[in-house]
Amino acid sequence: MTSPKTVFIETYGCQMNEYDSELAKSILKNNAFQLVDKETQADVVMLNTCSVRDNANRKVFNRIHEIIHSSERKDVKIGILGCMATNFRQQLLDNPKLKIDFIAGPDSYKQLPTLIHDLYQTGKKSFDVTLSEMETYSDIEPSRNDGVNAWLAIMRGCNNFCTFCVVPYTRGRERSREPQNIIEEVNRLVDAGYKQVTLLGQNVNSYRYEDDRFVDLMEKVSDVAGIERIRFTSPHPKDFPLPLLQLMAERKNICKQIHLPLQAGNDRVLDKMNRTYNQAEFLEVADQVYKTIPGVVMTTDIIVGFPTETEAEYLDTEHVIKAVKFDSAFIFKYSERPLTRAAKQFPDDVSEEVKTDRIMRLIEIQKDISLERHESYIGSVESVLIDQIGTRRDSEAVRGRTDGGIITSFPFVDGLALGQTVNLAIEGASPNLLRGRVVS
Ligand code: SF4
Repeated sequence: MTSPKTVFIETYGCQMNEYDSELAKSILKNNAFQLVDKETQADVVMLNTCSVRDNANRKVFNRIHEIIHSSERKDVKIGILGCMATNFRQQLLDNPKLKIDFIAGPDSYKQLPTLIHDLYQTGKKSFDVTLSEMETYSDIEPSRNDGVNAWLAIMRGCNNFCTFCVVPYTRGRERSREPQNIIEEVNRLVDAGYKQVTLLGQNVNSYRYEDDRFVDLMEKVSDVAGIERIRFTSPHPKDFPLPLLQLMAERKNICKQIHLPLQAGNDRVLDKMNRTYNQAEFLEVADQVYKTIPGVVMTTDIIVGFPTETEAEYLDTEHVIKAVKFDSAFIFKYSERPLTRAAKQFPDDVSEEVKTDRIMRLIEIQKDISLERHESYIGSVESVLIDQIGTRRDSEAVRGRTDGGIITSFPFVDGLALGQTVNLAIEGASPNLLRGRVVS
């Protein structure tokens, strides 16, 4: 076999996966591979996968079939990266219909050049899904091309073991990067013209490096001259001490946005999920956030139909979202993930029909709340960082986000550019976005 030269990576799932693809691209570029924009131009196609939701898995399986059945792609080599690689490695490799050639888990991206070269030399399928207690990729500069927002992982893995979640099994234990190494990367991002940095971690606010906690790191990042906006995701409600909220309120460049994953509103269900807080404690955190950070925008994640969830218990979730009034919510039906405690111990006993009914009701309630929240901005002037000029439907439309992270849409005017921050007079609202016009 000849040596492979061109690679194409397609990414599914969360921001951490986007970031991991940037790391993998960087590793491959440094090893003389050429990255291409289309799978049809590539010797090797890699799918960086997600195992968190069932539909993400299905999408990846469909995509693999699409690639191998494409007549042009008979000789293409296919690699699977990410969470699904760890979770389904044997099923993927043993399935002759899928024709998977190699697999690399989230801690094995540095092995990619070797895995690919070995495959071309020996023709043998291989995998490396070893989980590391040390790997943070702090020595790899991701291959970024966004230009406005830079993802930056400050920690990896999770120790929480929520019973529904596969992350601790596919991404391993928590480990954090050294603060100085992170600050140096933020300085390089400023030099490269990035306006915004989003700190990433499966459990980002559990960051800990020696004596430095998340609040200490945030202060250091905020002190970097030239970084206009700092965001972070995804946090756990248990790690929001008051000093962190106070720092967020004080610092102009820390965005007033908090994602506070609720998952469920009922104490028994929360306990069964191993979320480590009850409804009253969650409401207390949300209340403290609103009191300490004026104008903060809060979003959440919710799962409906967790095993044994009754109608009355589901109504507790409605109660919490009505009480907190999140700006938006990512709402999912529970789906069993292999390896998790819930999959092993709790039969998935809430019917599909009941789950669908609950999700529809919750989406309707949240839509009304989102609209009410967004309408309250009409008449105000919001500072918006432009991250898109021209949409598929309208080449003259501009998109950006407020400090709180709400998507805004407005007409183009001369002189606007990506990465520019403009003041926008808000004139309209929908549950998903704000509409306005530039006033400066
Ligand atoms: S905190 Fe829970 S939901 Fe979040 S990554 Fe860890 S185990 Fe998964």
